[in-house]
Amino acid sequence: MNREGRSSGARSGAWSVVLMTAVLGFAAPAAPAHANDTLNDRGMVTAAPWGSVAPPQATYRSRRQGAITGLTVHHQGETWPAGADVPAYLRRLQQWSRRERAWVDVPYHYIVAPDGAVYAGRDPQWAGDSNTDYDTLGQLQVMLLGNFEHQQPTVAQLQATARLLGQLLALHGLAPDRIRAHRHHTTQTVCPGEHLMRVFEDLRAQAAAGLTRVGTP
Ligand SMILES: [Zn+2]
Repeated sequence: MNREGRSSGARSGAWSVVLMTAVLGFAAPAAPAHANDTLNDRGMVTAAPWGSVAPPQATYRSRRQGAITGLTVHHQGETWPAGADVPAYLRRLQQWSRRERAWVDVPYHYIVAPDGAVYAGRDPQWAGDSNTDYDTLGQLQVMLLGNFEHQQPTVAQLQATARLLGQLLALHGLAPDRIRAHRHHTTQTVCPGEHLMRVFEDLRAQAAAGLTRVGTP
């Protein structure tokens, strides 16, 4: 399953303006804690439980993660229908990852839904997995639901992603330029899609702005 897509899509403008105005508020939605979410005890990010189950066996192809040196942004690569069931999708992705790929869990550490909810995915002690030649070791994988070659990320989704990236920068002591897109690491994919790439620098700037805020005791 290469769900991240290779085709190019239509261009449209104005997302920079939308993102800049939307993210400035940094409103924090309330959501229940997730057992795997290592950020929650710092009060920095919330994630809703989705029925994740612990790995049922001891042996997987996935690798243990060392020090975190970067953050990688992905899109799902499949068009996300409005109102679709996120927990059900994540449970299916978890089952597929283990059964078909022998990965320890879903390939991403954090999943951001169109409504701005952030879901904890793979335990960060495990490196992510990819269907491309990109080396995931030392990276935290942040995935936004949707296919941004063909649809737009929502304002709530961009806002939540900027906040999450800022929190992760602070937690791991990283500079904003350590936020990269999947396509920056490999030519094998267009992930995370043209519509997200158009606002990527804004996303990075807003994450840096959030870094200043969460870094203040
Ligand atoms: Zn990707």
